[in-house]
Order: sequence, then structure tokens, then C-alpha cells
Amino acid sequence: MKIITSKTALLGVAALAAGFFALPSASLSYTTIGGSLGVSKSGFGYQRDVRIYDNCGDAAANNNTTPDPLYPGALGAAMAVWKGGASWNSDDVDAGKNFDMDWQGEATSAGTANQNTVGWTTGGSCGGGVLAFTETPISDGWRITFCDEWTWSDGPGTPGAYIDIDGVMTHEYGHALGLGHTTVSCSGSCSTYSTMCAYICSDNGYQQRTIESDDQAGLGYIYGSIPAGKPTITSLSGSTAIGGTLTIHGTGFDSLVDVKFTAGTTTNTGSIPGTVYNLSSTGGGTAVAVTIPSTALSGSVHVWEGGARLSNGYPIAIGCPAPFYYGTGEFGSTGTQALITANGSPTVGNPAFSIDLAGGKPSQFCVMFSGQSQASVPYSWGTMLIGAPNFLRTYSSTNASGACSILITITTGMVGQTYYYQYGVRDAGYGGDVQASNAVGVTFCP
Ligand SMILES: [Zn+2]
Repeated sequence: MKIITSKTALLGVAALAAGFFALPSASLSYTTIGGSLGVSKSGFGYQRDVRIYDNCGDAAANNNTTPDPLYPGALGAAMAVWKGGASWNSDDVDAGKNFDMDWQGEATSAGTANQNTVGWTTGGSCGGGVLAFTETPISDGWRITFCDEWTWSDGPGTPGAYIDIDGVMTHEYGHALGLGHTTVSCSGSCSTYSTMCAYICSDNGYQQRTIESDDQAGLGYIYGSIPAGKPTITSLSGSTAIGGTLTIHGTGFDSLVDVKFTAGTTTNTGSIPGTVYNLSSTGGGTAVAVTIPSTALSGSVHVWEGGARLSNGYPIAIGCPAPFYYGTGEFGSTGTQALITANGSPTVGNPAFSIDLAGGKPSQFCVMFSGQSQASVPYSWGTMLIGAPNFLRTYSSTNASGACSILITITTGMVGQTYYYQYGVRDAGYGGDVQASNAVGVTFCP
């Protein structure tokens, strides 16, 4: 195990940047590598997205399991990386320039050198004391690599024994957004250490989470001050569930805007997953209503205007719509009503989501019908509440209490789709020998 305790470890290098350093002003001490991360809609124009390939094997890199409402859907290294990038945002107290990153969540690989992904490896420019490096040029994207020969920590508290993901991410994302290493003296108290110092301070990089005045000046040189009328989200109201109507409140919204959600996507042009286009704002540019798309993930939401302006990112925890019930369960020969319930989170990867029945005749065959539309068709045995084709999903049996339970395997292809379910229980001598339940509609989520 290697632990940095000195100031001699190289914090990170912009792999292709060394030859492009320039001093914009003798009186300022930041440097730039050329280029910036755009927000336009064409070609390589949109580069504000950030995602993580969370392949760090260190236990300390992913042991922060406490959710933070400011970083919905992200824990461990993902939250630390998000926080590092967000240190440069317009709504960060130390940054405050016309720059906002777009958290896109988790990636399934480190991707290519221009897919704006953060990951871990021992290859590339690692070795020789390097903690992390950023691949440039940034005009068509970037990649940040943390070197896996070090031991990493996700924080979130005070400096620990291991290298701070948040602090090093803040530095590396400084490269990704166009900054080189500072020429300010990197010595003295860690609390005044510039984020863009080439070396971390003796606190394992903890205090490089917050940018200093020279870092801020460099950010402002590249992206400018916050313009009057910048689209700014101040609150959300309404539904935060997929398919629900969310209202975004704020200031400076153009009459026609796009709304961009976290969706884990690497697509930056054309029809971008998680983005809803051409929405009219109301209230003089203070509100916009949007139906949350099925691809949206917990993360952040931005107002994006004509590919020219991007708002701050506002945290949003995306939920699943509540199951809804319809029809009437029959009481059957026992006099109890057959009632269906959906139990558990209807999300991909949840092995415990089930459709359950209570109130059926005990110890009888039960069957479940499913389909993708509602109906109300009377038969001799009861009312079919599922539209055709209404597949006979499976057989089971009620227990001694008249309950029946069937697990549903949720696949990615079901995300965003609504399925309807209804039970029937054999009840010889009652009606058409079947006791029919009410029905439930379930919309599945990522
Ligand atoms: Zn560096």
C-alpha cells in the first residue's frame, strides 16, 4: 500500500497539454491549455457531460453509503467525482463563473479518450508518482484516469489516510475544462493551496476540493462571468416520477427551451437521451413544465437553450410512478375480496418485485394475466381487466390464507413501459368457477 504524505507526488498531468501552456496575463497566475467545453448542439459542440466508470477496487473509494440530497443517485466514488466537477459550477460559492457541468451518472466502461468519463487504471501515464491524468485536447472531449496503484478515498469527511477522489477530481476537471497548472507558489498552508497546483498538499488532496482565486480567475478567463439573464433553476415542483409532469422554476428561461436530465448517455448530438426538446416557458421565463422521460435517472436537470446557454444543474431524485389500481375484486365463495397489490420497487435489477394476491380462496390454483393495456370485458367467469393480448403469465397456488405471489423479472426493455396485471383463483361453484381480482398497472423504471 502506498500512501502519499509528501508534496512530491505529481497530482496530475494534462497528457497532451504541456506544449500548449500559455500565460494570458503576467499578473494572473493560472495557465490555460487552449479550448473550452461547449454547450452547442452540433458536431462535438456539447462537452459538459461527466460520467464515472466506477472500477476502483479500493474499499475506501466506495464506502460512503450515505445519500446526499444534493447528489441524488450517487454514492461512494460517483458522489466524490460529481462533487469534484461541481466545484467549478456557476452556483459554487468559490467559482461563480459562466460554467456548469452536466452530471450524467455511471458509465459501463472508461470509453474512448473523448467520452468525458472518469475511471481507474494502472496504464496510460500512470507510474512515476502520477496520481491521475487527463487526456486532451478537450475540443472533442476528454478522459480522466485515476491511477490505481494508489489507494483512493471517497471522503466525504475530513482528510483520510488515502488519496482524496473529490480533491483530485477537482484538479483533473480543471484540466478538462481548459486550465493548465498554476504558476502560483504551491507551498504553505494546504487551505490556500491552489487546486491547479501540479502537486497535492500533505492532506492527500482534501483541500484542493475548493478552488482558489487564481483557479477562479482562470475559469472566468475561459468561460466569462455569469451573464445577466443566465437561465437559472431555483426550485422544482410537481412530479419527480417518470411520466409525471415536473415544473422547473427559475429565471431567465428563453421562450423555447430544452430540458436535459441525467441519463448516463454518451450521446451529445442529435436526439440526446434524457433530453426533452422545444418546451415553451411560462411566466415570463420563470417556469417550464416537462414530462419526465423514461430515460431520466436520479442526478440533475438543466435548462438548455438553443445549444447556446446552459443553466445550473439542479438535483433531482427521479422516482417511479406509484402503481395504480382499477376494477373490483370479487368476493368469491368464501366472502373475502380478491385484491391485487404490487410490492417492491419496479426497477431493473430488483429481484424482489412481485405481484401479490390476497383474499383468494385458499389452496387453489391462481393464475395471473398480464398485458399492456386496460380493458373491462365481462365473461361468464368474471370481468377481464387486461386488454388483449392478455397473456396468461403463470400458474401458482394460493396458500392456506388465500394469498398468492408471483415475482416479476424486470428487464431493461420494460423500462418506461406500463404493464397491467390481474389474478384469477379457481373457486368451484362460484360464478364461472373463478374468483377474479381487481387489476394493477405498473410502470417500470431504470
Ligand atoms: Zn494536473
